[in-house]
Amino acid sequence: MTTLTNLLDLDPAQLTAFCGELGEKPFRAKQLQRWIHQFGANDFAQMTDLAKSLREKLEKHAIVKAPTVISDHTSTDGTRKWLLDVGQGNAVETVFIPEENRGTLCVSTQAGCAVNCRFCSTGKQGFNRNLSVGEIIGQLWMAEFALRQTKGIEPGPKGERQITNVVMMGMGEPLLNFEPTVTAMRLMLDDNAYGLSRRRVTLSTSGVVPMIDKLAQECPVAMAVSLHAPNDALRDSLVPLNKKYPLAELMAACRRYLDYAPRDFITFEYCMLDGVNDTDEHARELLALVRNPLHPVPCKFNLIPFNPFPESGLVRSNNARIKAFAQVLMDAGIVTTIRKTRGDDIDAACGQLAGEVQDRTRVQERMQKMAEYQKKYGKDFGRIVEVST
Ligand code: SAH
Ligand code: SF4
Repeated sequence: MTTLTNLLDLDPAQLTAFCGELGEKPFRAKQLQRWIHQFGANDFAQMTDLAKSLREKLEKHAIVKAPTVISDHTSTDGTRKWLLDVGQGNAVETVFIPEENRGTLCVSTQAGCAVNCRFCSTGKQGFNRNLSVGEIIGQLWMAEFALRQTKGIEPGPKGERQITNVVMMGMGEPLLNFEPTVTAMRLMLDDNAYGLSRRRVTLSTSGVVPMIDKLAQECPVAMAVSLHAPNDALRDSLVPLNKKYPLAELMAACRRYLDYAPRDFITFEYCMLDGVNDTDEHARELLALVRNPLHPVPCKFNLIPFNPFPESGLVRSNNARIKAFAQVLMDAGIVTTIRKTRGDDIDAACGQLAGEVQDRTRVQERMQKMAEYQKKYGKDFGRIVEVST
């Protein structure tokens, strides 16, 4: 039996090569790519402008398959979350966040994560495995066409695009799954696929320094860096990867990246943890860090109110503290946003994406627990990020 090639796994060059192996000209690959990524087609019979002989060859050798949807919930505010089966008892989550003038999809790149940040529930489940190209781009493919279907919008370039921005901020550390992530991003940028501009694709990293340089060379997109602390001692304790790539190296890498980036600033994400990293003194220390004359980094700050989970032992900073912290940064002239939280009724918050499939009742249970947590932590508990880069 021949194994079928999943065409979602192939970047434009690989699809051209695949068509070449089937004895077809390169322009056929472009047509095929448009059918898949612009029309959401997975049925070759539907691709009526391809010769019948090609359609038959495709039926024999290829398939278009995204991960299976296990659950699909829409929040009262329009945030929509899918739980996707990626095999061997693993699942990942994809979240769509609609806003007035754009729609952002938050995409996962790994099942679990090896970095194990202290405040992140994805990290707490450990590393399970890297997602393939098809599993990463499959999230965008599935979500775009599911959203259109819900709204009755026709597939294809004439139909109104639902996803205008992608952030690699779901489960996993994208730079530790480099090649598949970059290949998937190339498809996001490709005019015969999703045609997103580099400024509308944001990669978020905990700071894998050598890979930041590699990304600058191979696929520069907008960059968000999860900072969370202004000095090495504190960052070591929150983001263990800092012991390997300390702040001075990370700042220097950010600065180098800006020579290639589509935007002229880095977005620093900063999770606000009560009594841990949230004093005015920490904010002033941050200013000194990003303005260090050795490696000054033009930047914006995005403060993320911590989304607690029971085992973390950490508490969200209160709103007044978050505002005061933001004020210190803003007074120094740094654009600072506080991440709005959304999707609270579907448990879709940043850092709460856990997605285990072994127990399919889990999502249901978590939703039930939601009310309990909200009583304890306030009504904002468990709301999804609003990404403002
Ligand atoms: N691994 C990458 C991208 C995924 S995490 C990274 O760490 O950047 C996306 C963002 O959510 C990161 O900024 C991360 O620090 C933040 N985050 C993780 N857990 C969180 C939590 N419990 N509350 C708020 N933000 C959290
Ligand atoms: Fe991994 Fe990012 Fe979570 Fe840290 S915050 S454990 S890097 S997913």
